[in-house]
Amino acid sequence: MIRLHDTALGRAAELELRDAGKVSLYACGPTVYGDPHIGHGRMVLVFDVLRRYLEWSGLEVRFVSNITDIDDKIIRRANEEGRTSSDVALQYEAAWYHAVDELGVKRPTVDPHATAYVEQMVELIAGLVAAGKAYETSDGVYLSVDAVPGYGLLARQPLESLRSGARVEVGEEKKSPLDFALWKKAKPGEPTWPSPWGDGRPGWHTECVVMSLDLLGEGFDLHGGGIDLAFPHHENERAQAVADGKQFARRWAHNGHVQMGGEKMSKSLGNFRTLTDLLELVDPRAYRLVVLQSHYRAPVEVTASTLEDAARRLNGLEAFARRVADLPRATADADALDRFRAAMDDDLDTPRAMAELAGLVRAANTALDAGDAVVAAPLAAAVDELTRAVGLQLSDGREDAVPAEVAALVAERDQARAGRDFAASDALRDRLDALGWRVEDTPQGTRVHRKDT
Ligand SMILES: [Zn+2]
Repeated sequence: MIRLHDTALGRAAELELRDAGKVSLYACGPTVYGDPHIGHGRMVLVFDVLRRYLEWSGLEVRFVSNITDIDDKIIRRANEEGRTSSDVALQYEAAWYHAVDELGVKRPTVDPHATAYVEQMVELIAGLVAAGKAYETSDGVYLSVDAVPGYGLLARQPLESLRSGARVEVGEEKKSPLDFALWKKAKPGEPTWPSPWGDGRPGWHTECVVMSLDLLGEGFDLHGGGIDLAFPHHENERAQAVADGKQFARRWAHNGHVQMGGEKMSKSLGNFRTLTDLLELVDPRAYRLVVLQSHYRAPVEVTASTLEDAARRLNGLEAFARRVADLPRATADADALDRFRAAMDDDLDTPRAMAELAGLVRAANTALDAGDAVVAAPLAAAVDELTRAVGLQLSDGREDAVPAEVAALVAERDQARAGRDFAASDALRDRLDALGWRVEDTPQGTRVHRKDT
């Protein structure tokens, strides 16, 4: 089983599954008020690689990642542009999925929207108020962090030192500087929902704790996101669960920052600021490769030169895939798969896994140069297997051209499977079959081949 660095423990620990063979994973999704940024891209790629690797290892992954569709920033943008908050949220949710789809990131099993959960949030808050763990002020309802044993777990700091770094702003009615809003009472020009404390809306930290527990249940396996979210967002999610007497995530994984540096952008690549810009300039797989070549907890440099370097490596991998396309089918080299597994199980050491991959390519090329297809074939099969395991789709230049109609059915079928609608998925397979396409289910989703080839 994989070992991952647990932010709460401050060390690596084996992922212990609540339910044998099944992984329950939550990663905080975007607040949809603008184009996704480069850091979002890293986060989704890191968790996509983790999810794909776990699935490749034979585990069933239930991956929940939310859409925060009500928030100060959404409201501000809506008011500035004279639009509704939901209009803004819909626009940028579409921008989000456009970008993450381009990155080849698998859609979450479920992507709950905060606005669909407000009633349950009100229920949680009412329970915390009744238990004396939260209190009402003139502008909202706050959680009393003094009522939470172990507050500071994810900050890796005791309550006292956190408290000394915080202060109550003038005009605030909080009892302690670390207390945070569960409910925000309505201000003019804001969308609102009813509550026992008057109309208002939930605080961000309340959204994720309610959605994750609802969709994954108590004691789910792993909660993750960018390191910036560890404190206060994740700390405060956890605080509410603890105050409510619930077991929250058993493990915590956080990915490091993106550094874009002050480097001058190259002429060939142009300038990029957001993820959307970047994806117009480079092959999205180059960004995946940049992410894979750095350890997920370390900072990663996303610059013209790191992206161009990755694009060159990608070309090299595809040249290799074309070179080995006609080799006889072989079973992937077992030792190579073991070494890959050992690297990935060691706190998702993707740089080591990528070095392993590069070594396999070199060894297979050497064998081919010597005319030894028997030695090259299992190595090439391992390259194919490993690139798929980390979500790098290489083209060997002879894929069947898939007509748009067929591609649309394939996408529909992947959606049905993600939603566990197997009746719909089977019906779509029959339709594809009738159109002359053989359907193969892979961890990467539905693949189709013309039946006559
Ligand atoms: Zn969250």
